[in-house]
Order: sequence, then C-alpha cells, then structure tokens
Amino acid sequence: MRWTAALSVLLLSAGRAAELPNGGFEDGPLRWAFNDHTSQVLPAAARGGRLGLRVGSLEYNPDGASVASCKLPVTPGETTTVTFAARATAACSGVYLQFTSAAGKEAPPAEPKAQLVWLPRELDGQWHDGRLSVAVPPTAAWLNLWVHSFAGSAGLNDYDDFQVSGGLAAGEPVPPVERKPRLAPEVDLSKLPPRAQPAAVILKLDDFRLVRGEVPEVWQRLATLFAQRGVQAGYGVLAESLASATPAAREWMRQQQAAGTIEFWFHGWTHQSHTVAGQACSELFKLRPEEATDLFARSQAAARLVLGQPFRTFGPPGGPSPSFDATIGATLAADPDLRVFLYPQPLDDAGRALVAASHVKILDRAWQANLESAVGVPHYRALVAGYAALPERPYFVLQGHPPMWSGGRYDEFLRILDFLVAQRVEFVTPAAYALGP
Ligand SMILES: [Zn+2]
Repeated sequence: MRWTAALSVLLLSAGRAAELPNGGFEDGPLRWAFNDHTSQVLPAAARGGRLGLRVGSLEYNPDGASVASCKLPVTPGETTTVTFAARATAACSGVYLQFTSAAGKEAPPAEPKAQLVWLPRELDGQWHDGRLSVAVPPTAAWLNLWVHSFAGSAGLNDYDDFQVSGGLAAGEPVPPVERKPRLAPEVDLSKLPPRAQPAAVILKLDDFRLVRGEVPEVWQRLATLFAQRGVQAGYGVLAESLASATPAAREWMRQQQAAGTIEFWFHGWTHQSHTVAGQACSELFKLRPEEATDLFARSQAAARLVLGQPFRTFGPPGGPSPSFDATIGATLAADPDLRVFLYPQPLDDAGRALVAASHVKILDRAWQANLESAVGVPHYRALVAGYAALPERPYFVLQGHPPMWSGGRYDEFLRILDFLVAQRVEFVTPAAYALGP
C-alpha cells in the first residue's frame, strides 16, 4: 500500500524525535565538545565500528577530562534512557546526564535521588553495558551527556555506542560549544627570573582534625618529611576535634610545636556550613557577635588544653559563602592571642582597615601561585608558572588540603616541594614570618 508508506514518512518528518548525533564516534570527534587536552577519539577505544572515545591519562592529570554531547530536546515527565558501552581498569571517570531549562539553567530532577551519574564498577578491562534511566525533570528543555574524568586521578576509560531513547521531543539537536581550558604554561626552569632575595613560603595546610583522638597518618607522614628536609609548615586545626585527643596525639602535637616544625593554627570549630535566612553560609559567616566570641573562646580553650598555648594564627574555613565577615574581623581583633590572619584573598580595604585598627597582621594570597588548582588537587606546572610570574613577591602563602591527597596527588605535592627546595625558598610558619622568631 503505497499511500500508507508515504503517510508514515510524512508523519515521521513532521514530528520525529531527536536522536543523539555521532553517539558511536564513527564521525570522529564531530558533534561532541572536547573541553580538555587529553580526551581522544581512537580506533583502540572502539567496541563496535571503527572508533570510540578514550578519556583520562595514564599519568597524574590535575586538569581532568570533560567531553560533552549535543543537547537534545526533551519532554518533561517522560522517562529517558541512556545506554552505552564502557571499559575501565580504574574508576577515574563517569557519565553524567545534564538537564537544562530553556533559559540554560540547571533543571533539577523531581525525584531528588534520581541517578544522573554512572561510574564504572567492573574494573576488569572488559567492555560492559552502562545504562541510566530517569524521568525528565519538570523544567528541563534539553539533555546532554557529559563524560568527565576526575582531576588528579590516573587511568584510562573507553566509551562507545551512546544512545538516548525515550523522553525526547521533536526538534534539532544543538551542537555543544567547545571551551578548551587554558593550560598553565610549561616554564623553562633554567630561565626563571632572578629574585633579589629567596622567597619565603608559608605552607598553609588546611583541615587538620583528630580522628578518634589520633593524628591521621598523612599529617604524621608530612611532619616527618618536613623535619627531614628542614621545612616549617602550618597545620590549620578544626578545634572541636581536639577535645578527643589521646595522650599520644597531644604529645605528638606538642613535640612538633616545640621543634618549630609545625605551627598549629585556628581554622574553625567544625568547618560545617549553616543556614541564615535561607542562605547557605560558611562556618564563620553571618554569626551573631556573641556566637563568634563563644566559638573563638571554645577553640582557644581547646588549644590551651592540648597544645599548652593558644592559637596565634587564624585562617577561616571556606564553604558556600564568603568565609568571614566584619563580625569575625572584630572578634579576631578582640582576641589578644590571635595576631596573624591568613587572609583568604589578596589584601583589600577591609583587611587594611583591620590591620590599621588592631594588633592583627595579615598574610595575604596571590591567586596565581598555589599548591592546588582545584581543592585537593596539587598542580606542579601551575605552581611553577605562578612562582615564575611573581619574581618581586617576598612571600607566598600556599594552600593545600592533605586529607584529600590520595594516590598521585601526594606525589604531585612532593614534586612541588622538591621544586621549592631547589629554589632555596625559606619555609616558615605563619607566626614566625609575620611576628618574627
Ligand atoms: Zn578548610
């Protein structure tokens, strides 16, 4: 029956649901955005056909990988299913469903526990089927897939044959815009600009907390290393955990302090955020003055008990809002023992006013030079580039998060330390630098 065939062709072309273009990478990288410098389309990554997607890096990669598909029009409330093939020997990446509204805003699922992320579980180097199936969120107009490998991990994952079925609306897929991140430049170490004086380096290592009263292994390992290499550093303490200190932990902390290797400084009580009038706030943001005074007093009492002396240096914990406000500045100025402020940003007017009106000295940050490019991800090349770009700067406060330095991250920190040692920088604790020995 010719007329029925003609009719169905007509109906299909009028209201045909979109399909994911180039889901099997047979057209190479076309219709995907490669927002990184490592992901590739390769024959070796194909399950079927000629080509497949390979993300990740065998070496430590502080930049991670980011590959995005076309946006497909979707119908809210309907179920959409994404299938693909994946092969992994390490859990270093995942597949994410990203729903956005017509205005380009994130469209959250109606069911808060909806599974929008697939991570490889079978790490046997064999191909396995991956699948995500969710209801299209009520405000969603678009769906795209995002393949992402985690900053600071090592390993390769292959993906192929992405398909999206169900929940798709009529309309044309929209190709993604590629945004390659800027890579930190590789610096020729033989051409570093000369310095009049070796720089001072204050290692600001955050989030020291006792676990079941004991000092976690990474902090002990670092302190041993620092002592061997003549490095002084600052450990930012969350004071609530001090209440549980075992005699051994207390003894260890006092020894580090007495040897001058480690200064324990005040980084907050718990680091937990809180909510004020519906706004998520960092621990030390928007406290009432009496709450701030009480929190500082409790923390100093804990320090006196465990360390035998109060904290002399303060650096506020980060979080969902600015990390401190004028109330905290006033509380700091009213504490006679806290005399050094590890300022979380370059010096500004509020900082200058605090210094002028109080006994507090500020050590500020230079954004270019840091241990980590993302929280918990040390980045050697970025640190070297930042250090080289600031030959006039007398000191650097370099922030890191050792509890997050698993796997290759710790080794990346060691590379940075070796570089700084080779530059003959003077490693010094915050109080020793700001106040003198
Ligand atoms: Zn912190």
